[in-house]
Amino acid sequence: MIMQINKPRNVTIPWMGKDYIELLGESLTNLGMQVQLPPRTTNKTIQIGVRNTAEMVCFPLKPTLGNFVEALDNGADTLLMFDSQGQCRLRHYWKIQEFALKNLGYDFEMYNVNFSNFLPVLRKLGGASYVKILKELYRFYGRIKEIDEAKEKWSAKLPNIGIIGEIFTCCDERINYGIESKIRKLGAKPVNTVTLTSFLRASFVEKLHLPSKKKRYEKQAEIYFNGGLGGHGKENISSLLELVDNNIGGVIHLLPMSCMPETSIEPFVDSICRKNNTPMLRIPIDENTAEANLETRLETFIELIKMREKK
Ligand code: SF4
Repeated sequence: MIMQINKPRNVTIPWMGKDYIELLGESLTNLGMQVQLPPRTTNKTIQIGVRNTAEMVCFPLKPTLGNFVEALDNGADTLLMFDSQGQCRLRHYWKIQEFALKNLGYDFEMYNVNFSNFLPVLRKLGGASYVKILKELYRFYGRIKEIDEAKEKWSAKLPNIGIIGEIFTCCDERINYGIESKIRKLGAKPVNTVTLTSFLRASFVEKLHLPSKKKRYEKQAEIYFNGGLGGHGKENISSLLELVDNNIGGVIHLLPMSCMPETSIEPFVDSICRKNNTPMLRIPIDENTAEANLETRLETFIELIKMREKK
């Protein structure tokens, strides 16, 4: 079936954090697109992804593929997927998703968006001028920055729990079972170092060779690597060094199953936490994660940190 030329497009994007994606949806609408967000991720969404991808592929591919299937079932016909142009699978997700969805018989157009092509792609889909696109994206950045400043802030009274890990798992509250609000309910302050603004900041600092306030930790992190690793492997080691240097109460390492960069840095994370006497809880996430088990481990971990801080 060939898409009718005059029919307005129904553009969709997969979830990665409710607030981020709702704000992005608003911005795309302001740029002239008709946006149709997928239904929020549920177990059913994840199961659709599980059934249509390789068992051992890293977990974010599964819910995002499920998001696309549910959006297409609701009438979306134009899919936008971020392409990291980096060194891990995220670079290839859109190709794998396109292949799986075509095999399922869907009729759609897939656009990969990255730091090199976002201007022409957004212009083609919405018709806005480059100036308007840049202004709208700047406004979007300002709005998510407000959200992320609260996420990254330390508490002066409560035990602070640093979060490092893979970005999708750290940002999407459906995927990480609302870990930040669970930490808050247990009487501690989550300090999430893996936010969308931290990712954009790091990407632009690196691409444009801008000076970085975190240079010292980035330099220290380099000794662990033989060049680029992909994902947030390096950034996480740099953030961890900064957290332990500032005496964080404890660290949570959140990662999706079979994530290449995050599994590669596990021994370094363990060693840095051990040397600095910093408690660390690692939480791998996939379709088999049980929320009750995650809650029990989290509760014990935060109790331990509270006891240490009292002493
Ligand atoms: S960072 Fe990890 S989870 Fe994300 S695409 Fe790369 S390998 Fe997969």
